[in-house]
Amino acid sequence: LEEECYRCGALPSSREHVPPKCLFPEFSDCGEHHRKDLITVPSCEVHNTAKSTDDEFLMVSLAGIIGNNSIGYMHKFGKVDRALRRRACKLLEKVLINRKTVERIEVGPNKFLEVLWGNPDSIRLSSAFEAIAYGLHLHHFKRRFVGAVRIYMGYLQYESGNSDVFNQFIRERAALDLEGKAELGSNPDVFSYQYSDKDQFGSYLARLKFYGGLDVYVAHVPEGISLPENPINFFIKAGIQTRVQLGDKAYVFNPD
Ligand SMILES: [Zn+2]
Repeated sequence: LEEECYRCGALPSSREHVPPKCLFPEFSDCGEHHRKDLITVPSCEVHNTAKSTDDEFLMVSLAGIIGNNSIGYMHKFGKVDRALRRRACKLLEKVLINRKTVERIEVGPNKFLEVLWGNPDSIRLSSAFEAIAYGLHLHHFKRRFVGAVRIYMGYLQYESGNSDVFNQFIRERAALDLEGKAELGSNPDVFSYQYSDKDQFGSYLARLKFYGGLDVYVAHVPEGISLPENPINFFIKAGIQTRVQLGDKAYVFNPD
C-alpha cells in the first residue's frame, strides 16, 4: 500500500495526529487514560506544519466550553490554562476576534471556569475542523477524500436570526442520517465520530463529537458530484418565512 498525504496526496514526510494530540488530556493532568490508540495519518511537510499552528488554537477554543463533559473541563484546568499563562493571553485573543466579556462561573470548590462571550474566529476554526475531516476520512475509509467538505459547528450560536431553528434542524436531520451508525473512537469522552451512508446524490455526512457535547457536522461532496440547487435554502436566505417538515416535526425559518 503506497502512502500519501491525507490532504494533498503528496509524498508524506511524517505522521499527523487526528484530531490533534493536544486535545487529549495527559494522565498526569486528570488521572485517567484518554490517549488510547490515537489516530495518525501520513502527512507531507506542508500539511504538517500548516496544521501544527492551528492545534493549540483548536484546543483553547474547544476545552472549557459550556456543554462539555468533565473531561473537557479538566483539560481546561490543566493544559489549556498552562498554555494560556505561557502565552500571556495572546492565544486567547486569537480565539475570539471581538472579545466581549469574560465571566467566571464556579464549577467546584475553588474551581472557576472562565466563560468567554464574543465572536469566535470561525474561519480559522472551520479550517482546523476541515483538516480533521480529511485526516479522519483517510483513516476510516483507507482512502483520501477528494472533493469539497462543508463544516457546520453545531455548538456555536450564530448571529443570524434563524440560528436556533437551524441548529435544531441540522441536529435532528443528522440524527436521522446517522441512526444506527456506530460511534467510533477509542477515547469517546474526548472524541468520537460517525459516518452516514451516501445519499441519493453520493454525498455523505460525518458527525464529530468533542468532549461528549460539542458537535461538528461535516458534509462531504465528492469531486464530480453536483448537488441540485435546494429551493428551501433560497427562501430561507431571502428572509421568507419557510416551513420545513422533518419526520413529524416542523421547523419554521424566518418566523414573524
Ligand atoms: Zn499534503
